Amino acid sequence: MIGLKGRHPKAPASLESLSKPTAKALLARAKNIPIPIFKEQDFPNYWGRHKHHFIRPQYNGKCAYCETPIVSGSPGDVEHFRPKAYCQSLGPAKSRDDYGGQPPGRVNAGPATEGYWWLAYKWSNYLLCCNRCNSSWKKNQFPVAANRSRHGQKLSAEGALLINPFVVDPEPHFQFDAVTGQIRGLTPRGVATIDVCGLDRRSLEIQRATKGAKLNKRYREYLGALDQGNVLAQNNAMRALIDECRSKEPFAAVARYFVKQHLKISYYDLLEMKRKRLI
Ligand SMILES: [Zn+2]
Repeated sequence: MIGLKGRHPKAPASLESLSKPTAKALLARAKNIPIPIFKEQDFPNYWGRHKHHFIRPQYNGKCAYCETPIVSGSPGDVEHFRPKAYCQSLGPAKSRDDYGGQPPGRVNAGPATEGYWWLAYKWSNYLLCCNRCNSSWKKNQFPVAANRSRHGQKLSAEGALLINPFVVDPEPHFQFDAVTGQIRGLTPRGVATIDVCGLDRRSLEIQRATKGAKLNKRYREYLGALDQGNVLAQNNAMRALIDECRSKEPFAAVARYFVKQHLKISYYDLLEMKRKRLI
């Protein structure tokens, strides 16, 4: 996951809103009776038709959570960051190998609770993500550190644990092992995001390890050039490392972490050096 602040696609001129569930919920509130736990099918899928807004260069064509490329063969989902119909916590998966489709042994932990029905057609609540992160792992989970916000209350007060890369810089929350491809949460938000989206699933580890092998190769080239005093080769290897960190590259977060760990400099500082033609 990489930071996408300021990169959320512009909302289309006309955006659908559906009054039925909202009216039902508001009526329940006015009558002082519990707001219904909606079903997915209570909300017609209008958001899917806006997918093309997200599959654009500025969005990098990747899953917002796991950074897997969204390609024509697997076009991804427009997903609700905060679940629209209901919230449902899930128990731990028995393993992180989900090649069979669903996460093994992940069952409901407790009853479903009121969702964020008023955000069902809210543009800022949409993300583009891969089907595996959305449908197999995240589903209707949305853990919060404080009390869940309800309609009319400040969303920021609930202490969302899942990281929205359009709002929060994910970098301080994760660390990666470039050899094994493993990810580790450094904060409660990092830990929760890994768990909810299954970012430590085996299939992702394998892909991140492949990326890590590429990074290690470039780094060895850099060290070799440094040893030989070959400035040209040194800069070439450094630029290749910078390229691996670009937002559009799959698993750029691994590359940025690697660069920071090995070169003791951030990707953004390296970019600045490149801009000034220092490398
Ligand atoms: Zn994903």
